[in-house]
Amino acid sequence: MALKSLKISGFKSFADPVTIEFDQKITGIVGPNGSGKSNLTEALRWVMGEQSPKSLRGGKMEDIIFAGSEKRAPLDRAEVILKFDNHNRQLNIETDEVEIRRRLFRGGESECLLNNKKVRLKDIVDLFLDSGLGRDSFSIISQGNVERIFNSKPSDRRFIIEEPAGVSGFKLKKHQAQQQ
Ligand code: ATP
Ligand code: MG
Repeated sequence: MALKSLKISGFKSFADPVTIEFDQKITGIVGPNGSGKSNLTEALRWVMGEQSPKSLRGGKMEDIIFAGSEKRAPLDRAEVILKFDNHNRQLNIETDEVEIRRRLFRGGESECLLNNKKVRLKDIVDLFLDSGLGRDSFSIISQGNVERIFNSKPSDRRFIIEEPAGVSGFKLKKHQAQQQ
């Protein structure tokens, strides 16, 4: 499974729509401080189901919506669309391409779409949980987290390894089954 493209609009510093095509094996994103590199990785985590505003460096979820600049009025909607190549069926969906989309409106309403069909956020989280690409996965390592891995307790480090391996998805399902 590979990322194909990321399209964001109204998300943090990206007021106008921007599409990044991941058409090479490695994609590097460079830019001066404050140019939006971390915002891009946050957009990735957000569309994959991130629910903690704090881990997106905000106080409340609406802080991810473009808040305006000297020249530009604030926007009232953030949208992120992520496309995956799913030829190898790593995501448990019978399509060669998988598109996930998440929108948030000022006022709080939000929407998630999976291959253009409305779904719950939980459906998207579950989809990735076993694929090793979950929102908490260390497939996405943000600034400061390298240190966190090295300084963490062995039990926490184990989680860090289990999540990308897809083990924590099974553990969560086992736990949910035992609760029923
Ligand atoms: P560094 O190299 O320092 O890590 P970076 O390229 O990772 O920088 P980011 O942290 O992604 O930069 O971007 C920070 C910028 O995003 C800041 O200028 C901040 O004002 C802007 N920003 C964050 N949230 C919003 C928002 N809701 N609306 C508009 N701009 C925002
Ligand atoms: Mg940064």
